[in-house]
Amino acid sequence: MVKSRILIIALLLVAACAEENDIAPRPNVVLISIDSLRQDRLGCYGHELEFAPDLKVSPNLDHLAKVGERFMNAFTSTSWTLPSHAALMTGLNDRAHGVETGSFKIDPKHEVLAELFQDAGWRTFGVYSGGFLDPRHGFSRGFDKYESAILDSKECQDAVAHEMKLVEEQAPDIEWNSKRIARLRKIILRYQNRGQQVSDAAITMLEDNHEDGKPFFLFTHFFDVHHDYLPERIDPELALSFDPTYEGIWTGKDWTERAVDPGTRKPNLGRRDLAHVMAMYDAEVHLVDRQIGRIFAWLKRNSLWDNTIVVVVSDHGEEFFDHGGITHANNLHNELIRIPLFLKEAKRVNSITGNISEQVVGIHHIAPTLLQLAGVKESCNQNKRGILESNGNEGVISRLQVFSSSNRQGNIRDAWRDQEYSVLRWFRPDPVSGELKLATHPKTNQPAVLIYDLSQDPLEQSPLNLSDPRATIALKRFHRDAMLEEKQAQKISQSPVAARLANIRTSEETEFLEALGYALAPQEIEDTSIYFSFPLPLPNEN
Ligand SMILES: [Zn+2]
Repeated sequence: MVKSRILIIALLLVAACAEENDIAPRPNVVLISIDSLRQDRLGCYGHELEFAPDLKVSPNLDHLAKVGERFMNAFTSTSWTLPSHAALMTGLNDRAHGVETGSFKIDPKHEVLAELFQDAGWRTFGVYSGGFLDPRHGFSRGFDKYESAILDSKECQDAVAHEMKLVEEQAPDIEWNSKRIARLRKIILRYQNRGQQVSDAAITMLEDNHEDGKPFFLFTHFFDVHHDYLPERIDPELALSFDPTYEGIWTGKDWTERAVDPGTRKPNLGRRDLAHVMAMYDAEVHLVDRQIGRIFAWLKRNSLWDNTIVVVVSDHGEEFFDHGGITHANNLHNELIRIPLFLKEAKRVNSITGNISEQVVGIHHIAPTLLQLAGVKESCNQNKRGILESNGNEGVISRLQVFSSSNRQGNIRDAWRDQEYSVLRWFRPDPVSGELKLATHPKTNQPAVLIYDLSQDPLEQSPLNLSDPRATIALKRFHRDAMLEEKQAQKISQSPVAARLANIRTSEETEFLEALGYALAPQEIEDTSIYFSFPLPLPNEN
């Protein structure tokens, strides 16, 4: 009797599922993050290759823009990898998720996207190729499989031995110690283009698991575009074709170490040299686009493309002296904070194709949007504002906070922007109270508050006079959004700091150093005794 009742219930459930499936099968979700990718270096965002006008930098992403939606005003939460990915995965702004320095992991209290999909019955796969996405920072939570495409310990040892030889040719008297070796290892990890390994791993995970009828959530993180730029190591012909006429001495290798004159802080290279380095950056973008194309092709070959939601985004941009600096994590200007964002919905009667959206979107809006589109209930973390339901009238706040361990000095900035304006602020801690105060930058003499009218000055080159009425409008909006953000953050509880700190080293790093016979130097632990305490902007601040 009991048995037959269970059977009846099971049959009813199957029937209900079949009915649901007939209406709308649960979609697959693919979320792709491309590290360090500027919005304005993609073809569909208007980029043309200066030295190779007949080539296309990003044909696969251009195609995605045609079949989905492309966002012009998508902004990340900061200009470095760890907090922006924490915002991507938790759906929380930086103030709320609290991943503030490299010592932190995602708060165990905060649910992440993969957990929510896993709980709802999705298979979950992740593959990453940059160190901050390591499980020790909490990114593997909720994944059935979460793999690294970074060099393993043996590959890393071989690469280090190779580079040591090159260094010794230049400096035969060099004495190696654990600190130097660890630094060389870090540099070598920057050289790697592991895009192919990322897409290989992703495709293998899908191949092995797509036939059981369950939907999947796939996350991939591509690190190739991050400096250094060495496309010639993957495809020498491609690298050459992106800048066939260059005859100078600059390459994308170690360029960040040499590009700035340490005395004058001015560029050490000429305009043409810089253009060459940027062409190598573009070639890296192309290499990633090619690997993304392989994932798209696999989905299409297996008739899964139409029922798959695809989001492609970057965690931050990259600076090429746009505001006097290079790389990222130093500033919060447009070239670092405005990011590419694509969204292709699963094919439905009313799905959006080919749209260009001007709506303001933060990187933390992506998680709730994916959950909504896939029909998974939102977690209590979420701010209830997915991209699709955001009214687009608010701006996005980003923050940068870099403390040195000894003196509490740092590069402490915040910024706000919407479609029309941006505001950037710079702080210094009061030497006695530690309280953050607005301050002129001691090295660059940059004013403490910079305000731009993006309609007139999209590249943020000429700050408004603070007495300009537009500056007042921008500050009022910043103030309004900071209050809203603070209110949202107050609703999210955080674990005590000790529960949010990551392990110091990855197991690969420890294994690598020990295998070479070097004693492990104690790692400097950042001063985590002061955290985000950015004063709210005042409507009449100046
Ligand atoms: Zn990054």
